[in-house]
Amino acid sequence: MRILVIEDEKKLSGFISKGLLEEHYAVDIANDGEKGLALALEQQYDAIVLDLNLPKIDGLDVLRQVREQKITVPVLILTARGTTPEKVAGLDAGADDYLTKPFVFEELAARLRSLLRRPTVEKSTVLRVRDLVLDTVTHTAKRGGKVIEFTAKEYALLEYLIRNKGRMLSRSVIAQHVWSYNFFTESNIIDVYINRLRHKINDTPGNSIITSIRSVGYRVDDDGEAKE
Ligand code: CA
Repeated sequence: MRILVIEDEKKLSGFISKGLLEEHYAVDIANDGEKGLALALEQQYDAIVLDLNLPKIDGLDVLRQVREQKITVPVLILTARGTTPEKVAGLDAGADDYLTKPFVFEELAARLRSLLRRPTVEKSTVLRVRDLVLDTVTHTAKRGGKVIEFTAKEYALLEYLIRNKGRMLSRSVIAQHVWSYNFFTESNIIDVYINRLRHKINDTPGNSIITSIRSVGYRVDDDGEAKE
């Protein structure tokens, strides 16, 4: 899952970014409203953390312009503007959630988890695909009674595949949601990570969750045997 943080206070954006990386997200930072808007319009994000008092373009204008382009990415406003009319204005401009500064990182992380599970029927912190259970809080999986641990990127890749199960995902789409925007998509790193994941989750012929479609991409399936 890839998060855009639009925040002009460098110390704060660094703090948020470090925390989100520890939660295994890919993170891009924009230090003003103009850069933030450009990234939000050009790139694919799974959520945006948006400050309101920003140089160049105010956060509310960034949000309105994103929504005018019919971009439905979940947006969490993170701001010092804490009055009720300010909150109403933010939510009415198209925000999905609103958190006021000062804040505790754990609450921001929990609110992002909540936003990221809204589009699906999944309301639990646990994701399932057949006999594999992925815990989105501990970032571990269980299959066949065995606990599986992952590196940050392995976990992020598996979570993204499972959240989009049934959908064929091209390598470039995977790169856009699991890596930061400056990721070099020509490399075969996604295939390398998929192979590591298959090994870890014990994906063997006859019982494999990750399907590869040659020269197209990958798909996770809830039922039926994966076909080449
Ligand atoms: Ca600010």
